[in-house]
Amino acid sequence: METVADGSAGSTAAESTKSSCAVAADSPERVPACLLSAPTVEEGAAFTAEAARLESHPDPTCRVLGAAISDRLPTVMMFDRAILKKSPLQRTYGVGFSYEFGDEWLVRIARRFNELTERSLSDKLRTLRHEVAHSLGATEEASGRGLTAAEYADRCG
Ligand SMILES: [Zn+2]
Repeated sequence: METVADGSAGSTAAESTKSSCAVAADSPERVPACLLSAPTVEEGAAFTAEAARLESHPDPTCRVLGAAISDRLPTVMMFDRAILKKSPLQRTYGVGFSYEFGDEWLVRIARRFNELTERSLSDKLRTLRHEVAHSLGATEEASGRGLTAAEYADRCG
Protein backbone atom coordinates (compact mmCIF):
# COMPACT_ATOMS: atom_id res chain seq x y z
CA MET A 1 0.00 0.00 0.00
CA GLU A 2 1.26 3.44 -0.76
CA THR A 3 0.26 6.14 1.69
CA VAL A 4 0.99 9.81 1.38
CA ALA A 5 0.64 12.55 3.96
CA ASP A 6 -1.59 15.47 3.23
CA GLY A 7 -0.16 18.95 3.67
CA SER A 8 -3.55 20.43 4.42
CA ALA A 9 -4.31 18.80 7.77
CA GLY A 10 -7.23 20.48 9.41
CA SER A 11 -9.03 21.16 6.17
CA THR A 12 -12.77 20.90 6.43
CA ALA A 13 -13.22 19.68 2.88
CA ALA A 14 -15.66 16.83 2.51
CA GLU A 15 -13.78 13.55 2.71
CA SER A 16 -16.53 11.03 2.62
CA THR A 17 -15.64 7.70 1.10
CA LYS A 18 -19.13 6.38 1.72
CA SER A 19 -20.69 4.65 -1.14
CA SER A 20 -24.00 3.06 -1.86
CA CYS A 21 -22.30 -0.14 -2.98
CA ALA A 22 -20.56 -2.59 -0.71
CA VAL A 23 -17.51 -4.80 -0.84
CA ALA A 24 -18.51 -8.44 -1.27
CA ALA A 25 -17.49 -10.54 1.72
CA ASP A 26 -15.33 -12.86 -0.37
CA SER A 27 -13.73 -10.08 -2.39
CA PRO A 28 -10.04 -9.36 -2.02
CA GLU A 29 -10.80 -5.71 -2.71
CA ARG A 30 -10.76 -3.04 -0.05
CA VAL A 31 -12.70 -0.60 -2.14
CA PRO A 32 -16.21 -1.21 -3.42
CA ALA A 33 -16.17 -2.73 -6.86
CA CYS A 34 -18.46 -0.02 -8.19
CA LEU A 35 -15.72 2.52 -7.50
CA LEU A 36 -13.22 0.63 -9.62
CA SER A 37 -12.75 1.43 -13.25
CA ALA A 38 -10.30 0.56 -15.96
CA PRO A 39 -7.50 3.03 -16.62
CA THR A 40 -8.38 5.78 -19.08
CA VAL A 41 -6.67 5.75 -22.46
CA GLU A 42 -4.26 8.36 -21.15
CA GLU A 43 -3.52 6.43 -17.95
CA GLY A 44 -3.14 3.15 -19.83
CA ALA A 45 -0.73 4.70 -22.31
CA ALA A 46 1.31 6.20 -19.46
CA PHE A 47 1.47 2.84 -17.64
CA THR A 48 2.54 1.04 -20.81
CA ALA A 49 5.20 3.69 -21.48
CA GLU A 50 6.42 3.37 -17.88
CA ALA A 51 6.85 -0.39 -18.27
CA ALA A 52 8.80 0.14 -21.50
CA ARG A 53 10.97 2.86 -19.96
CA LEU A 54 11.88 0.64 -17.01
CA GLU A 55 12.48 -2.44 -19.14
CA SER A 56 15.34 -0.57 -20.84
CA HIS A 57 16.56 1.14 -17.66
CA PRO A 58 20.34 1.07 -16.97
CA ASP A 59 19.66 -0.21 -13.41
CA PRO A 60 18.93 -3.97 -13.48
CA THR A 61 16.64 -3.61 -10.45
CA CYS A 62 14.45 -1.24 -12.44
CA ARG A 63 14.48 -3.55 -15.46
CA VAL A 64 13.07 -6.31 -13.25
CA LEU A 65 10.43 -3.89 -11.99
CA GLY A 66 9.61 -2.88 -15.57
CA ALA A 67 9.10 -6.49 -16.60
CA ALA A 68 6.83 -7.04 -13.58
CA ILE A 69 4.81 -3.92 -14.42
CA SER A 70 4.43 -5.20 -17.96
CA ASP A 71 3.08 -8.51 -16.57
CA ARG A 72 0.69 -6.82 -14.13
CA LEU A 73 -0.75 -4.20 -16.47
CA PRO A 74 -3.86 -6.24 -17.37
CA THR A 75 -4.83 -6.37 -13.67
CA VAL A 76 -4.39 -2.66 -12.95
CA MET A 77 -7.60 -0.87 -12.02
CA MET A 78 -8.22 2.64 -10.82
CA PHE A 79 -10.28 3.57 -7.80
CA ASP A 80 -12.17 6.74 -7.42
CA ARG A 81 -10.44 8.40 -4.53
CA ALA A 82 -7.81 7.75 -1.91
CA ILE A 83 -8.79 6.19 1.37
CA LEU A 84 -8.37 8.73 4.13
CA LYS A 85 -6.69 7.55 7.29
CA LYS A 86 -6.62 9.87 10.25
CA SER A 87 -4.20 9.62 13.11
CA PRO A 88 -3.57 12.07 15.95
CA LEU A 89 -0.46 13.46 14.27
CA GLN A 90 -1.41 13.64 10.66
CA ARG A 91 -3.77 12.30 8.14
CA THR A 92 -2.60 10.12 5.32
CA TYR A 93 -4.18 8.83 2.19
CA GLY A 94 -4.04 5.28 0.96
CA VAL A 95 -3.40 5.95 -2.71
CA GLY A 96 -2.66 2.43 -3.88
CA PHE A 97 -3.13 -1.22 -2.96
CA SER A 98 -1.97 -4.51 -4.30
CA TYR A 99 -3.11 -8.03 -3.46
CA GLU A 100 -2.09 -11.47 -4.38
CA PHE A 101 -5.26 -13.23 -5.43
CA GLY A 102 -4.88 -16.79 -6.66
CA ASP A 103 -1.88 -16.62 -8.96
CA GLU A 104 -2.49 -13.01 -9.92
CA TRP A 105 -1.44 -9.71 -8.42
CA LEU A 106 -4.18 -7.13 -8.46
CA VAL A 107 -2.98 -3.55 -8.51
CA ARG A 108 -5.24 -0.63 -7.55
CA ILE A 109 -4.36 3.04 -7.98
CA ALA A 110 -6.29 6.07 -6.72
CA ARG A 111 -7.30 8.76 -9.21
CA ARG A 112 -8.01 11.51 -6.72
CA PHE A 113 -7.06 12.45 -3.19
CA ASN A 114 -10.61 13.58 -2.58
CA GLU A 115 -13.53 14.82 -4.57
CA LEU A 116 -11.68 17.93 -5.62
CA THR A 117 -8.05 17.00 -6.13
CA GLU A 118 -6.97 14.83 -9.05
CA ARG A 119 -3.62 13.10 -8.63
CA SER A 120 -1.05 13.83 -11.30
CA LEU A 121 -0.02 11.23 -13.84
CA SER A 122 3.46 11.14 -12.26
CA ASP A 123 1.85 10.43 -8.86
CA LYS A 124 -0.08 7.54 -10.39
CA LEU A 125 3.11 6.19 -11.98
CA ARG A 126 4.90 6.29 -8.64
CA THR A 127 2.02 4.36 -7.09
CA LEU A 128 2.22 1.84 -9.95
CA ARG A 129 5.95 1.30 -9.27
CA HIS A 130 5.32 1.04 -5.53
CA GLU A 131 2.47 -1.46 -5.80
CA VAL A 132 4.13 -3.67 -8.39
CA ALA A 133 7.31 -3.69 -6.26
CA HIS A 134 5.25 -5.52 -3.61
CA SER A 135 4.70 -8.31 -6.13
CA LEU A 136 8.50 -8.67 -6.21
CA GLY A 137 8.58 -9.13 -2.44
CA ALA A 138 9.27 -5.52 -1.47
CA THR A 139 8.07 -4.69 2.02
CA GLU A 140 6.44 -1.56 3.38
CA GLU A 141 9.02 -0.94 6.09
CA ALA A 142 12.78 -1.37 5.84
CA SER A 143 13.65 -4.92 6.88
CA GLY A 144 17.36 -4.96 6.14
CA ARG A 145 16.69 -7.33 3.26
CA GLY A 146 16.10 -5.76 -0.11
CA LEU A 147 14.43 -2.52 -1.07
CA THR A 148 11.15 -1.29 0.33
CA ALA A 149 8.37 -0.58 -2.12
CA ALA A 150 8.91 3.15 -1.62
CA GLU A 151 12.61 2.72 -2.40
CA TYR A 152 11.78 0.88 -5.62
CA ALA A 153 9.38 3.65 -6.57
CA ASP A 154 11.97 6.37 -5.92
CA ARG A 155 14.99 4.58 -7.31
CA CYS A 156 13.28 3.82 -10.60
CA GLY A 157 11.40 7.11 -10.81
ZN1 LIG B 1 3.09 -0.41 -0.04
